[in-house]
Amino acid sequence: MVTVMDVTLEMSAAPEAERTAASLGAQATAGTLAKRPLVGLSRAELAETLGELGIAPAQRRMRATQLWGWLYGRGVSDFAAMTNIGKDLRACLQAGFDLARPEIVTEQISSDGTRKWLLRLPASEAGGRAPEIETVYIPEADRGTLCISSQIGCTLTCTFCHTGTQRLVRNLTAGEIVGQVLLARDRIGDWTGAETPDPRGLPIGERKITNIVLMGMGEPLYNFDNVKTAMDIVSDGEGLSVSKRRITLSTSGIVPMMERAGAEARLMLAVSLHAVRDDLRDVLVPINRKYPIAMLLDGCRAYYGLSNARRITFEYVMLKGVNDSIAEARDLVRLLAGIPAKINLIPFNPWPGAPYECSDWEQIERFAEVVNRAGYASPIRTPRGRDIMAACGQLKSESEKMRASERRALAPLPANVGGAVS
Ligand code: SAH
Ligand code: SF4
Repeated sequence: MVTVMDVTLEMSAAPEAERTAASLGAQATAGTLAKRPLVGLSRAELAETLGELGIAPAQRRMRATQLWGWLYGRGVSDFAAMTNIGKDLRACLQAGFDLARPEIVTEQISSDGTRKWLLRLPASEAGGRAPEIETVYIPEADRGTLCISSQIGCTLTCTFCHTGTQRLVRNLTAGEIVGQVLLARDRIGDWTGAETPDPRGLPIGERKITNIVLMGMGEPLYNFDNVKTAMDIVSDGEGLSVSKRRITLSTSGIVPMMERAGAEARLMLAVSLHAVRDDLRDVLVPINRKYPIAMLLDGCRAYYGLSNARRITFEYVMLKGVNDSIAEARDLVRLLAGIPAKINLIPFNPWPGAPYECSDWEQIERFAEVVNRAGYASPIRTPRGRDIMAACGQLKSESEKMRASERRALAPLPANVGGAVS
């Protein structure tokens, strides 16, 4: 255990740190320097940042570990609460860095306990419109799943997806991805010793967020570096401690990125399949024209750690009269034979103006029975939070409501944003 005495700045570093604090403070006051976010830095980057503040090399790792504990173990959002960090260093951090969570525009709690937050993020450039994203929390009796976004909008245009009707505004930073987890923990009271503001529908266990799914807005494999950094932070055992086996990345099938994602991030994988034939998948998930089904399944077979203990989840949205015939159910199990898999049948969640309808419940059950008989357990995903438009594919930020002229005023896309289907 670290004592208070133990962690004040060492004498040799103090004058430099004080100078840095003073100059950072002066610049921030003068408005010449925006505060930098601290959330989202890897451990190494955090140590490097402390170096910039004058912390001696021998001390950096230890200081970074202490900060890490406050940020991700305790979830503090105020430097003043970091009581075992020396006053000088705290002042220095306060002057130059920001711990703010994304701003909550609205918080909605569904009749089934599902929560949806509309969050406002800083604009990419001065005077630009602040973009918004959505994050959803789905509680069950014994676990709680947080569905987070990886991009604002999406470059892909899956025809059944609400997000797909919104253009890509930008990638989220690692800090903004982690920020969704921190904010959800704040609002649910999921920090040790924290009060739970509204306990409706929360799971019984000590931890309220046990699982994370990258199934909100955006295609996570088009923002892989930030997603990876963020998930390394979220899974770190001295912080948020969500095991990588409980984090699932859902992709529409960006095959060339799947191998890298498996090797480097080692998350569980979900694949949005939705059709068993290329001609139909070309329409539903247009990236299929670039990476067709056979190529996608080869990518799945090669995915990191694939085994019965680490199955890939295949998502299949149930669209009335489009992809929900019994013949297609049979083709689905045939197609996936030999791949350790789970099948998730997702009843289509409607949104205003959607060109599809959800399959009839009896048809979903008949389809599920074929899948079930082939050995896949409980294949239907119960829709949650439909009354607050929090279900899969209903997410779309308010920025979509902008007029075209306002959209053009948005910052241009960063160069590293890829993926539009030509
Ligand atoms: N872009 C990634 C992750 C986000 S979408 C992907 O496509 O996998 C998460 C899941 O919700 C995907 O399986 C997606 O196909 C599904 N989805 C999208 N719109 C939906 C809708 N309206 N109803 C049901 N599921 C939907
Ligand atoms: Fe993008 Fe996924 Fe929606 Fe397709 S389903 S448009 S990839 S968010």
